Amino acid sequence: MPSLPIHPPGCIVGVIGGGQLGRMLALAARRMGVRTLIWTGGLEAPAVEVADEVIDAPFDDAAALERFCQTATVATVEFENIPRTTLETVAAGIPLHPSPAAISTCQNREREKNFLRQHEIPCTWFAVVGSAAELAEAMKDLGGPGVLKTADFGYDGKGQIKLDGTEDPEAVWAEFDAPRAVLEAFVPFERELSVMVARGADGQVVTYDPAENRHRHHILDVSIVPARTTPAVALEASAIARRIAGALDYRGILGVEFFLKEDGSLLVNEMAPRPHNSGHHTLDACATSQFEQQLRAVLGLPLGSPRLLSPVVMLNLLGDFWPDETTPPDWQPLFQDGEAFLHLYGKRRAIGRRKMGHANFLGPDALERAEAMKAAWLER
Ligand code: AMP
Repeated sequence: MPSLPIHPPGCIVGVIGGGQLGRMLALAARRMGVRTLIWTGGLEAPAVEVADEVIDAPFDDAAALERFCQTATVATVEFENIPRTTLETVAAGIPLHPSPAAISTCQNREREKNFLRQHEIPCTWFAVVGSAAELAEAMKDLGGPGVLKTADFGYDGKGQIKLDGTEDPEAVWAEFDAPRAVLEAFVPFERELSVMVARGADGQVVTYDPAENRHRHHILDVSIVPARTTPAVALEASAIARRIAGALDYRGILGVEFFLKEDGSLLVNEMAPRPHNSGHHTLDACATSQFEQQLRAVLGLPLGSPRLLSPVVMLNLLGDFWPDETTPPDWQPLFQDGEAFLHLYGKRRAIGRRKMGHANFLGPDALERAEAMKAAWLER
């Protein structure tokens, strides 16, 4: 086997972004004796309290950029909406994994959809639009219900509206107020799945068992693993995720979201070039967590096994579980469960439906236990 460019423990992994994904990445790094430098972007950063070093400045701050490159041995991202010039400047100074090109493809729906089309990876019909006239044309071509999504900076259902196809394109475009957008055909899916795929320095690829994802108010509510589907669908999802990772010449961990239709066919919805909310179950239920896997890939180490050790349900703990902004739910029943594991992100205030943490429930009856706990917390 050829020798790999291994960064020894003791090096500093620079993480662009300081959210909960950066926090869990930093915790995994701590366990492995690897130091982290978190660059917050000037945003609220749950990762800061577990990082070894912090740069608290916007992503376009030149001094911050210089310090980041001088301090970190190797870099990665926990958040994809980072200016392309920042990514390219970092990559010119130190190794950045995944590459700016791969991140850039995933951070913008127009590039993402064009990439899928170019590589003949199944996705729903779409058209890119930049004006009311183009939207009118696209709605005519589609001739039915669709979803209009901003090209840039969309996540958790933000920046998108459902159209039944009869709306006035002029009015929709004026209201939508985005320079570019993608009109997609509405997919009458049976369920939503995702696959976490990791690709290492030497092109080694591993995929985790597909997760079945259910949403509440457009935000991930629960991930059920293994997904309740056929082995053929699971294999196909894994094969598509591998193809995407290869086509992006990817290094690191990547989340691929799918729509599963009633006829068993799969369409890619979107990709996330980082650890993903639907991979949080890997912390308690897989041989290697998605965060350790990210570090292994970035550090040039061999990848760990993605093997599922137990059926698991990940329940997102959103702010609306909190009786008020500073009072957490009653955790007693969760600890009493014995096979439920709490992960809190250290956020001080539970505002709206922000992601405060998650809980992983292990075992064959995990879904019933997670649902019962959720109902009790939301009922109060
Ligand atoms: P996204 O931000 O693109 O992941 O979309 C958020 C959620 O909206 C998805 O998880 C789906 O539940 C729903 N959605 C997005 N695009 C479509 C589509 N083309 N057809 C049906 N539902 C969609």
